Amino acid sequence: MAKLFLHYSTMNAGKSTALLQAAHNYRERGMEVLLLTSAVDDRAGPGRIASRIGISSAAECFVPEDDLFHRIAERAPLACVFVDEAQFLTAQQAWQLARAVDDLDIPVMCYGLRTDFRGDLFPGSAALLALADEIREVRTVCHCGRKATMVVRLGPDGAAAREGSQVQIGGNESYVSLCRRHWRAAMGD
Ligand SMILES: [Zn+2]
Repeated sequence: MAKLFLHYSTMNAGKSTALLQAAHNYRERGMEVLLLTSAVDDRAGPGRIASRIGISSAAECFVPEDDLFHRIAERAPLACVFVDEAQFLTAQQAWQLARAVDDLDIPVMCYGLRTDFRGDLFPGSAALLALADEIREVRTVCHCGRKATMVVRLGPDGAAAREGSQVQIGGNESYVSLCRRHWRAAMGD
């Protein structure tokens, strides 16, 4: 029976790397997969999932208006669907993915950030945390060696931003993953 998976972490933990490796494992065995990524994140160019360690793959973009159940149903049968930047899904789209798992019997593997730089859940991640059959953490470390679970967004002055919009696309240079203790210190708590 197919399952809905959520692989979550903070920034720069290697989620895209894990996604690309898993997708490769299917393709290597001649199985067809569908790769989806958010149109919000165009760091890798449109329709591409790229990892910091240098691997990448073509992907289809989704926008909040897309009905992902229908996108997947049109392409069925598929061995697996992979969703990168899953934090940018709407709650409705998380339900559409759950329906694809249940009604089309296609496994869906979502990879996304749990919280934003303010420590708030992303809407897509909140819905997936509620709906997923299996939830796995992709781990990374703070500079102190503890597990990093939070992220700060650095402003042009190098200080942690306390306010601003939830979505601002950037890579290593503008986000730093920290343990909660050091995140609180960076945020002035
Ligand atoms: Zn720390």
